[in-house]
Amino acid sequence: LLSLMTSIAIDNINLLGAFKDKAVHDGFTGLINHKYFLERLEQELLYAGRYKKNLGLIMIDIDHFKKFNDSFGHYAGDEVIKKLVKVITSKLRDVDIVARYGGEEFSALMPEVTYEDLYAAAESIRQAFSAEKYSFSGTECSATISAGISIFPKDASTAPQLVRWADQRLYQAKMQGRNRVIG
Ligand code: GH3
Ligand code: MG
Ligand code: MG
Repeated sequence: LLSLMTSIAIDNINLLGAFKDKAVHDGFTGLINHKYFLERLEQELLYAGRYKKNLGLIMIDIDHFKKFNDSFGHYAGDEVIKKLVKVITSKLRDVDIVARYGGEEFSALMPEVTYEDLYAAAESIRQAFSAEKYSFSGTECSATISAGISIFPKDASTAPQLVRWADQRLYQAKMQGRNRVIG
């Protein structure tokens, strides 16, 4: 009886762990989700404000991804998303916080970064991702991203403002022809 009760207790702990994990992580990419990212942003802003540090934000969106899915299928699109996650995490530092902001939208927080290093990080993600080649049903293809960046405290003092600036610049990147970083 004791061992049965123990095993039920362990099962419950495991279930709780899985439940909590789902609340924080995106199941497909393993990155943190939108909601938890915004919580982390608030925490990092408090820290940056308190210790007079910069906090950089990068917003990334894959270009013409609907067309990509239409041409090569949803499964091919998923492969491209996985590749982008690899590129983003390989180009950023261990202390940076990367999230799946939406379907094919990603965000990253870079604590204690200079504006130049923030821009360089976004640009190196853009270049590395665009250099990747894929082959789907015998057709060679590649994909690109657009990105907008913003930095605390120069651009904004609150989380919504910081996100709005990066979002607006991402929109500008799209309007100016995509496959570029706007700061
Ligand atoms: P834009 O350059 O303006 O960003 O054009 P877009 O076609 O990429 O437009 P938008 O960012 O609005 O498109 C999002 C598309 O991304 C819609 C959806 O089909 C696709 N998408 C979102 N999540 C996933 C996913 O998990 N897998 C795949 N394969 N496609 C996804
Ligand atoms: Mg999008
Ligand atoms: Mg897109």
